[in-house]
Amino acid sequence: MATSPTLLRGDVAAARKLMAESVGIDSHIDTIQRVMMGDDLGKRHDTGHVDLPRLREGEMNAAFFALWVPVSFRGAEAVRRTLDLRDAMQSVLDEHADQIELATTASDIERIVKAHKIAAFLTIEGGHSIDDDLHVLRTYYRLGIRSMTLTHARNTNWADSASDTPANNGLTDFGKDVVHEMNRLGMIVDLAHVSDKTFYDALAVTTKPVIVSHSSIRAISNVPRNVSDEMLRALAKNGGVIGINFGMGFIHPKDAEALRSATDTEAEAPLLTGRALDEYAAENAQKLFGKRATVVATVEDVADHIEHAVKVAGIDHVGIGSDFDGIAGTANGLEDVSKMPSLIAALLNRGYGESELKKLLGQNHLRVIRNVTGG
Ligand SMILES: [Zn+2]
Repeated sequence: MATSPTLLRGDVAAARKLMAESVGIDSHIDTIQRVMMGDDLGKRHDTGHVDLPRLREGEMNAAFFALWVPVSFRGAEAVRRTLDLRDAMQSVLDEHADQIELATTASDIERIVKAHKIAAFLTIEGGHSIDDDLHVLRTYYRLGIRSMTLTHARNTNWADSASDTPANNGLTDFGKDVVHEMNRLGMIVDLAHVSDKTFYDALAVTTKPVIVSHSSIRAISNVPRNVSDEMLRALAKNGGVIGINFGMGFIHPKDAEALRSATDTEAEAPLLTGRALDEYAAENAQKLFGKRATVVATVEDVADHIEHAVKVAGIDHVGIGSDFDGIAGTANGLEDVSKMPSLIAALLNRGYGESELKKLLGQNHLRVIRNVTGG
């Protein structure tokens, strides 16, 4: 681990200035679940990690808002939950139309950011949300959703997850159809959460660049949710981008146990439906994200992950994928999105130049979005 040089106020001010002139894209936040629980994103909160005021404070102006469906939602229940989350997202877009707007292409993101608003790019977290049905996938596309992770914490019927026992030997034939259909529609294939075999199977069949929206580096924190150096090199060859996750277990090996137990809690979900399932999910979210965990990882450790990814995959293949509002503990110094300039200041201190930082902040993700969505 690098030593932790103290950030000077001047460094953070320089970072802030650079960020104000950049498109800053976070490729994964789970904030919409907080809207489902009643939070108004127009207000600044002391809890959670992201709201509109804190996005502005942190000089971040675009994010992949995840419609994250816990694996306790099975079959048609997962479709219902996805629609509930899409509706919650719409309420934010409608109530705060002066501050946030739906983006479905890279040009949308650039236009919205230029107008000093937040660009919301929609993504589905967990391929179980399509209920094994390409008609459902296509309908999500028509609802403005432009990305999807193939799995979440458990296997789907067609793809193995990084945190489950392999059952499909990676991606099944139907799983390959899903990737092809996403390529055809113009939806980004997101390989965060999948097993290594699924990762390589998807890369072998995709005709478009992919993302790994919120994972970090296994060589530093050896958890299955992180990527190996071999995976980083394969991702670079594909033209894709990894968004580095700020969650404590992703970043520091001493925090990894907490990440494992959170994944296990999810796996133990009872078989419920309807309101009982909604209530269970709300209680579980409170348990997982209700209070800030004690964390060893720091903002300098996050910078170590970014540096490692840049060294192995190259500067064109790394971005930010915080996982804010989907993790119990973030790295110290990056407690919420308002602290983003501290990370950029740490990278400035390490000698990163303006054009490199603009790539990490958003240009790399924009390149993939433009390539896949065609605009
Ligand atoms: Zn996730």
